[in-house]
Order: sequence, then C-alpha cells, then structure tokens
Amino acid sequence: MSVFPINLYGDKILRSKTTPVKNIDDKLISQITEMFDTMRNANGMGLAANQVGLDKSIFVIDLTVVKGYEKTKPMVFINPKITSSSDDTVVLEEGCLSIPDLRADVIRPSLIEVVYYDADMKEVKLEASDWLARVIQHENDHLNGIYFTDKVDDETKKKLKKNLIKIKNRKIDIDYLVTEKSK
Ligand code: ZN
Repeated sequence: MSVFPINLYGDKILRSKTTPVKNIDDKLISQITEMFDTMRNANGMGLAANQVGLDKSIFVIDLTVVKGYEKTKPMVFINPKITSSSDDTVVLEEGCLSIPDLRADVIRPSLIEVVYYDADMKEVKLEASDWLARVIQHENDHLNGIYFTDKVDDETKKKLKKNLIKIKNRKIDIDYLVTEKSK
C-alpha cells in the first residue's frame, strides 16, 4: 500500500478549482487506488484529488466506517456535478482530513442529485440522501476550492480561526502523512 501526503488547510491547491478528467489511463487508475489507500490509512470516509496534490475533478468515498453503511461499496466520482439540491436542509457535524481534529456543524441540503463518471467512464446519475449526500457535497466542495469551515456561521468561524492557523502552520500532532507547509 502506498499513500499520498495529504494537503492541509492553507495549501494553495485546496483553494483552486480542479480540472476535469478527459480520459482514464493506467496511471489514473493507480492514482485512484492510492487515493483510497490514503483515505483509509487516515480513517477518512471521503477524499478529493486536490487533497493529495492532484489537479483532477475526482473524489473517492467509502462509507463502510459509518453505522448503517457497513455494506455499501466504495465509490469513485469523476467530473461530478450536483444537478439538484433539496430545499430541505439538515445539520450534521463534519470533519476533514485536511483540517485534522476540528469538527463543526454544517447545514446543507438533505437530498441531492449528482451526475458523474465512474471508473469505466460511464455516466451515472445518482440520487443521494443522508450521509452519502453529505459526503458527496463536502467532497464536491473541495473540487471547487471550498472547505466545510467556509460554511459555518460567523461565530463558529471566529472560534475556529486560531485552530485553522495552527493547522496551516503544522503546529498540531497528526497521525497520518501530510505535506510540508507550503511557502
Ligand atoms: Zn474534506
């Protein structure tokens, strides 16, 4: 198993919009495998390509660590687009491998429809709810340069600020491989 170092809050690539994938080759397949390994090694349930330094519109999800999702299959989303979102919203606590040890409540639509390409470059249309909808929205945000901490209320933002600076400066203990602080 080989893993990528994970980019942390403040790294430039996490603020940029990723580039759509044109075709799948062996190199990309092995990068996707490595993304899954990286995510599992860090006990994550989702990981976007730019979190590991790849400028590609891809994220992977494995919800088997979530109660009630033990039997679900790992999924790879290539060039995803959220095509509709419910007016109905739900509050759930989120975390992020690029923002270690920090969690906060985030309000998001409870139901979404996403169109993406799978690992065979076949177009898939999926309606998602509950945790699947949540993780897809979180990861899709990464591909657009957005963190979950951008979505919290102002009061929470103020509270998180100090810790975000610590993460940016690597002044924290992390038990998985991360990138060096970017200059
Ligand atoms: Zn994240």
